[in-house]
Amino acid sequence: MSYDLGARLKDILLRTSPAFMADRWQAPRVLTFMMTYRCNLRCTMCWQWGEQGLFHELSREHEVQQLDLPTLRAVIDDVEQEGTGVFLWGGEPFLHRDLLPFVEYVKSKGMYCSINTNGTYLPRDSRRLVDLGVDALMVSVDGPREVHDRIRGMQGSFQKIADGVQAVREARNGNGRKPEIIVNTTISPGNQAVLMETHKIVEAMGADRMILSQLWFTTEQIGRANEAYFREKFSAHAPSWRGFVMDVSVLDTRLIADQMQAMSLLKGPMELRFLPDIFPEQVHDYYRRPSEAFGRTRCLVPWLEAEILPNGDVTPCSDRPDLIMGNVKRERFHEVWNNDSYQSFRRAMREDGLFPYCSRCCGLWSH
Ligand code: SF4
Ligand code: SF4
Repeated sequence: MSYDLGARLKDILLRTSPAFMADRWQAPRVLTFMMTYRCNLRCTMCWQWGEQGLFHELSREHEVQQLDLPTLRAVIDDVEQEGTGVFLWGGEPFLHRDLLPFVEYVKSKGMYCSINTNGTYLPRDSRRLVDLGVDALMVSVDGPREVHDRIRGMQGSFQKIADGVQAVREARNGNGRKPEIIVNTTISPGNQAVLMETHKIVEAMGADRMILSQLWFTTEQIGRANEAYFREKFSAHAPSWRGFVMDVSVLDTRLIADQMQAMSLLKGPMELRFLPDIFPEQVHDYYRRPSEAFGRTRCLVPWLEAEILPNGDVTPCSDRPDLIMGNVKRERFHEVWNNDSYQSFRRAMREDGLFPYCSRCCGLWSH
């Protein structure tokens, strides 16, 4: 049996029962690199740089940290034989001066590579991204021009994305569908009334796929319960929930559900996915009952993903980087992946089930 086949089999077993959720695990299926904390936008709902964003509290010294190319490459060397895919984001990943040389290295190993970007640098780098063989580009479009620019906090940002997507499409002309162009639209108070219009615009832009995301949010009560659990279980300070507290009572759940319903009936070349993959009739509970996990009892991210932060810290949860398992500037990634901290984190998920704030974290819905 090839390793890949064995790994796939283990993934299937992982999904079937907590009994297969071992403390030690093979290499992650997805390795995420937050290339930089920095971003040139200030999107209102962003947990990093939005109104309640966590990164405003970073010292200048912390904010400008980023890994150098030899360290980034060493992490890749640890997983290159394992069938791991690489996901690059930030902040805005194109603000890392070595992003493209790093992508070149990842692709030279034959690994799947996707990049999540706010799109402002795509017009400049589209040709190179296509030539490097990047597999997928993820950009965000939050609405028609004025709505998008208002939510993203930058006049002209809609046009930059439109130009960027156009440039990528032109550059890949004749090269098949790589990179796949994925547009994410996050539902928010500022665009909830124009979701259908946004779908039309995204399709006209030439996206291959649109992901309509619900808001990732939490409440103060859930956040504090999570903080208490992490303190007791892991002796860890877990403040990341603060970046996700927002007033979702202003969302009109009927209005959103009706548009999701109408959108799902549209026929066109662009694929559409809802994230999380809930039905329109579940939207009300999604926003009004924030602890409801719609039947999910475990998150598989502790077994299938890991994230490297710009300072080298390794965290299991991309959107809630509260637990730090090690640091790739001091140790090899493969040593961190199954160390005592990682094993006790997996054990906690297997034995206790979801942590309080997992119910509205995108990680829960990604596998
Ligand atoms: S572009 Fe991304 S990282 Fe930057 S503020 Fe917007 S959502 Fe946050
Ligand atoms: S749901 Fe989110 S916070 Fe919970 S374990 Fe998964 S990735 Fe981590």
